[in-house]
Amino acid sequence: MRLRTYESFWLLKNGLLYTYPVLQQNIKTDYIVVGGGITGALISDVLIENNFNVTLIDRRDISNGSTAATTCMLQYEIDEMLIDLSKMIGEEAAAKCYQAGIQAITDLEKLVTKKKIDCDFKLKKSLYIAHNKKSSVKLEKEFLARKKHKLGVKWLTQEQILRQYGLLSHGGILSDMAGSADAYKLSHELIKQNVSKGLQVYDQTCIKKITEEKNGATIYTADGYTIQGKRIIFCTGFETTYLLKEKVAKLFNTYACVSEPNAQIPKKLHDILVWDTNDPYLYLRTTGDGRLLIGGEDSDKLSQTDQQNVKEKKSDKLIKKVTGLIPGINFIEDFSWGGVFGSTKDGLPYIGVSPEYKHGYFVLGFGGNGITFSMQARKILMDHLQDKSNELAKYYQFGR
Ligand SMILES: Cc1cc2nc3c(=O)[nH]c(=O)nc-3n(C[C@H](O)[C@H](O)[C@H](O)COP(=O)(O)OP(=O)(O)OC[C@H]3O[C@@H](n4cnc5c(N)ncnc54)[C@H](O)[C@@H]3O)c2cc1C
Repeated sequence: MRLRTYESFWLLKNGLLYTYPVLQQNIKTDYIVVGGGITGALISDVLIENNFNVTLIDRRDISNGSTAATTCMLQYEIDEMLIDLSKMIGEEAAAKCYQAGIQAITDLEKLVTKKKIDCDFKLKKSLYIAHNKKSSVKLEKEFLARKKHKLGVKWLTQEQILRQYGLLSHGGILSDMAGSADAYKLSHELIKQNVSKGLQVYDQTCIKKITEEKNGATIYTADGYTIQGKRIIFCTGFETTYLLKEKVAKLFNTYACVSEPNAQIPKKLHDILVWDTNDPYLYLRTTGDGRLLIGGEDSDKLSQTDQQNVKEKKSDKLIKKVTGLIPGINFIEDFSWGGVFGSTKDGLPYIGVSPEYKHGYFVLGFGGNGITFSMQARKILMDHLQDKSNELAKYYQFGR
């Protein structure tokens, strides 16, 4: 009999790293960051760096939303291919969004290094493989478009991919820039460091009501206290879809599982992220302790992801797929989990002011590279607060 966890690997591996008090008094602050996941951690960090008075609240324990479940593939690649995004927003604009992803990974690496955060951060390459012959035709077009815009890519034939990485494919794009990390640990450590610089943090603090005044907004908590601030920065992840009338994202479930440590895989696989063109896609990477992490099997049904039978079926499918991809692999599953995921119509995030909240600002890094979008939001937000223009803001705005 195989006993499996209901929790994500990261939560079990790290435990509840730090906890904070629930709000038990009325307070005033400059900025109220709602949401203590990786987005709220990155955003409160940039606000603290700019010497603002910041309070962060979360309805759960810190980083216990999607950040506890993410496989944290850090990719510049957007869910929509460059050639498809170009048709939606224009080629130059699409290329800018792709280039911003590369910059975001570079910036995140600098931040982790500067702050000496121990979170298994590693710069890697990324390999986007064609799962069949038909899809390799489109993928080659995508390669040419990325090459034209100097995105640091190389085309690998199926023989090269098999020889170098031990993967069966129909060719693929090797990109120079990608990364991976333990996002749960990164988020926790970043918040903890900023507490020593004045960040106030309250967990298990639920919002009952928000009112907007002339010069700011007030949050009323379920426990009967108030937080007054000039601005509320919503870093509330996929649940934000319930706060807004505008339909910004479609939600579904996605699944992941991780092997036992020291997975017997080709050595070079440790240096790359892999994903394929299939629908639903399969993706994989290794962890800091040498496990193989696989994910995908997205499903339109928004059911309870902790249902054991659903998770088992999804893990079985993921393992079957990875067995077809890496000949001879013996994937011994250690943990499996699922979570909610959201995608937008163009693969781009929603970062900006929504007409629904005059004193609100939203940072919603939806899609397969939500974390790189959250990283980009640091500059977009600061430019907004300092009345500077930002060339990405218009592509990520509400009502687009
Ligand atoms: C299985 C899986 C794999 C994934 N893989 C990747 C990946 O490889 N790469 C990637 O970039 N992304 C991936 N994602 C998506 C990823 O989880 C997100 O990009 C990232 O974690 C989002 O962080 P966040 O801080 O925006 O959201 P969250 O971590 O969900 O944080 C939002 C926080 O807001 C709090 N909150 C919400 N509403 C309120 C409220 N009203 N009051 C107070 N608090 C509130 C929540 O409690 C939560 O803690 C994956 C997701 C899943 C489920």
